[in-house]
Amino acid sequence: MSHSRPRVLIIGGGFGGLFCARRLSRADVDVTVLDRAAGHLFQPLLYQCATGKLSIGQISRPLREEFARHRNIRTLLGEAIELDPVARSVTALRPDETTFTVDYDVLVVAAGMRQSYLGNEQFAEWAPGMKTLDDALDIRQRLFTAFEIAETLPPGPERTSWLTFAVAGGGPTGVELAGQIREVATKTLAKEFHSIDPEEARVLLFDGGDRVLKTFAPALSLKANDTLRELGVELHFGVHVTDVRRDGITVTPKQGGPDQQFGTRTVLWTAGVEAVRFARHVAEVLGAETDRAGRITVGPDLTVAGHPEIFVIGDLAGREGLPGVAENAMQGGLHAASCIRRDLAGRPRRPYRYRDLGSAAYISHGHALLQVGPLRVSGYAGWVAWGLLHIAFLTGVSNRISTVATWLASIARTGRYHRAFMLGAGDRHDQRYTYSSWDLPEPAPEGN
Ligand SMILES: Cc1cc2nc3c(=O)[nH]c(=O)nc-3n(C[C@H](O)[C@H](O)[C@H](O)COP(=O)(O)OP(=O)(O)OC[C@H]3O[C@@H](n4cnc5c(N)ncnc54)[C@H](O)[C@@H]3O)c2cc1C
Repeated sequence: MSHSRPRVLIIGGGFGGLFCARRLSRADVDVTVLDRAAGHLFQPLLYQCATGKLSIGQISRPLREEFARHRNIRTLLGEAIELDPVARSVTALRPDETTFTVDYDVLVVAAGMRQSYLGNEQFAEWAPGMKTLDDALDIRQRLFTAFEIAETLPPGPERTSWLTFAVAGGGPTGVELAGQIREVATKTLAKEFHSIDPEEARVLLFDGGDRVLKTFAPALSLKANDTLRELGVELHFGVHVTDVRRDGITVTPKQGGPDQQFGTRTVLWTAGVEAVRFARHVAEVLGAETDRAGRITVGPDLTVAGHPEIFVIGDLAGREGLPGVAENAMQGGLHAASCIRRDLAGRPRRPYRYRDLGSAAYISHGHALLQVGPLRVSGYAGWVAWGLLHIAFLTGVSNRISTVATWLASIARTGRYHRAFMLGAGDRHDQRYTYSSWDLPEPAPEGN
């Protein structure tokens, strides 16, 4: 890499960062993609990884492999923690907690959003969100361990609470998770246990609105309601989850009325998102406006006011009419790259225009929704269209082939081939059996 060319630093190799870097692969710039994870993650299929349908390798691709053929693009593993807009540098944390600095001429912030607990951070201890590979593996562990623990318990409230799964949030992620957990219980595990009947597992979905998937046309989301009920998911609308504990949750009706308590040992949180920490720091040092979730206000070309050299794209870009979907991130990445190329050619930048290419949501085997302009598709046709769309956008040819093969195999045998989960090692303090350790006293300090 030469150092005489403009240096473009992209923070985040998600959908926005990936598409921006790809488009710059033949431009006369040196590109650095800095990500706190080593791979690009295909978030729309995280729930299939969490529920044992796909492996982590099938939904993520090493960024290093992705850009291996592009001599002007390098990737660095590190978490951006500090921006110095005067020196035009970003400081990042290595996994061993030492730091390094990367200089830039143009900065593209594409660091995405994280799960928000809406001011109740303490819920995170008992209710993982679903944004990262770690979350997916955590959920997989909790889900399958819950059935295992239930198998060892006598009938009664304790066993019932291990067989009760609560999902907070009726957006696409909550719906996908709830549907998949019922499928795990009624298909994958149905005949594998001797003491419990996995089909008795209760899956409770809580949402503040009056239907799931509110961003879809009402007719489609009502279909989703029906499909979930047919699957056996219990829908609770007009409520907020107001407490999450080790052994249960409290739910409060929005319109008033008494709280309800549910005994459950597995709570999954999909009810909100907020900007990642670094994005809040960026807004602060640049004096940029943000919305309540921390999205950074950007101008027509997706740059921050007063900083034509700093783009904010994808989920973090705060502007009217930009949804938090992969398509907006990809288009934003291409747009930032096009502005950089135009700058190099001495041509004026164009304003960013998001083109809505439609949305799709998976509900269960044979059921998905697809909404493209006036076109509305549900049921089996929606499911096939959903599958084709996701395969088209999955990163890496080998991931596409192996995902299609896994899907075909699981359609034929209703099996899940990636159910393996880890519980840690009982003899290592940093890796204790996470489930039982919740009930164990802290280890005695060394030397006693
Ligand atoms: C479970 C789930 C399901 C979804 N399903 C769909 C769907 O079906 N259709 C759809 O269109 N959209 C879906 N989305 C939304 C879609 O995934 C996002 O809109 C999209 O990923 C946003 O892209 P992005 O580039 O802005 O951020 P991301 O793709 O989130 O990428 C951000 C990247 O930044 C990195 N990063 C974060 N902080 C730092 C830091 N400080 N330093 C360095 N790197 C950092 C992260 O590791 C990550 O790689 C889903 C999202 C989730 C979580």
